[in-house]
Amino acid sequence: MPSIDLPPNPRRADWRWQLRHALRAQDFGLAENPAWPCRVTPYYASLADLSDPADPIARQFLPDPRELEPDGFGPDPFGEDGPAAVAPGVKQRFPDRVLAQVSLACAANCRHCTRRGLLGRARAARLGDLLGALEARPGVREVLLSGGDPLLLPDEALLRWVEALDALPRLDAIRLCTRTPATLPMRWTRPLVRRLARCRRLWVQTQFNHPRELTPEAVEACARLVERGIPVSNQSVLLRGVNDEPAVMAALCAKLQRARVRPYYVFVCDPVAGIGHFRTAPGAAAALRGYLLSHLGGLACPRVVADVPGAAHKRDV
Ligand code: SF4
Repeated sequence: MPSIDLPPNPRRADWRWQLRHALRAQDFGLAENPAWPCRVTPYYASLADLSDPADPIARQFLPDPRELEPDGFGPDPFGEDGPAAVAPGVKQRFPDRVLAQVSLACAANCRHCTRRGLLGRARAARLGDLLGALEARPGVREVLLSGGDPLLLPDEALLRWVEALDALPRLDAIRLCTRTPATLPMRWTRPLVRRLARCRRLWVQTQFNHPRELTPEAVEACARLVERGIPVSNQSVLLRGVNDEPAVMAALCAKLQRARVRPYYVFVCDPVAGIGHFRTAPGAAAALRGYLLSHLGGLACPRVVADVPGAAHKRDV
């Protein structure tokens, strides 16, 4: 059973300290998976109960030997390194939006990450390439700043991206796709939020997967955004052994609503190599959808969807 002595005060409210003290597989006495190394902030690791081999938080950051077993899936089912790549780090899968991978690092390397096989060899986007791609695509109305995690950039670098996009009146929305509200909530300092909030078309899209992730720190980070007028929505991933009990997902949605975070999607776990053991049995997503519909009001009830390779849009389960 993995164990660790966390650094003193692992929930320290200093995001740079958290990243400097990020923990690796050897810190937990585990073998590293060189293809997708373990990396986690002391804060997020402190939410796990490492005495429980089935802990739903630990499962999201500790390497699992099943990742190395063949599962019949490839590393890039959505062609992000193929047809969807319009410039290094700039992707387009849908006509009205483009995605820029502005950082290749994350506060925690999620074991279930869809891009786990791609990030190691990816190149971060350059602003000039993104602006060129937008000029050539007048139908694009939304830009997703993603990664990796854009919140791993220093403030000034992140603000450069947001302010450059904010200067384009044709865009309807700029989405910041980040898991830091769950894994590094202290990243959302008041000065950063104040400056981001000058952009009135900014949305934050995050990923909480389990009710225990909604700590007071996480709720405070979301409140700072919402109170400055930045909408926050949540996209969970349906993960076997983490949140596939319908009552757990319902509790998560209720806590998100209380935190004024819109439960937007629950994604069926993608068909990506190395994460097959997280995929739920056929029928589980539909059963979950039925449960959520009958236990939650519309504002707390997310759409349960699958991202299907080659499909024109996300498909409701
Ligand atoms: S934060 Fe997002 S990009 Fe980073 S490892 Fe997790 S799922 Fe992947």
